Amino acid sequence: MPTFRCHNPKCATDPQKGIGFDFEAPVTAIVCPKCGAGKTARSAALIVKLAVIHFDPPTDIHGIGQNFAACNPEKPIGKGCRGTGVHDAVTCAACRATELFQASYAASRPMEGEDYEVEFDPREGRIMPKAG
Ligand SMILES: [Zn+2]
Ligand SMILES: [Zn+2]
Repeated sequence: MPTFRCHNPKCATDPQKGIGFDFEAPVTAIVCPKCGAGKTARSAALIVKLAVIHFDPPTDIHGIGQNFAACNPEKPIGKGCRGTGVHDAVTCAACRATELFQASYAASRPMEGEDYEVEFDPREGRIMPKAG
């Protein structure tokens, strides 16, 4: 079954981020199980069909993935198989349920004050966390 997203603000899973509520439904009965949007033509405008975007597990190099879908390591990213390392953009429920995704998501965190306290080492030519 394809996945849909309800954009009714009352259904948002994280109102601050404004992320809608995702649900699976057969194409013959696309109705939000939370608010019932989709029953009328007017409320159906709140619902969009999501493209399947798999989770591409990260490597040690920032911004570079391992180039396979977490839900199926035999499935390379590319040629009709879309993937990303951006957690909030992953729509594949099977990928989100994997240990790879869960561990990566748990390790990610928003930037905090001390993250901005950096210094530049001209000899090494790189930025690093401020010492002590
Ligand atoms: Zn809804
Ligand atoms: Zn997947």
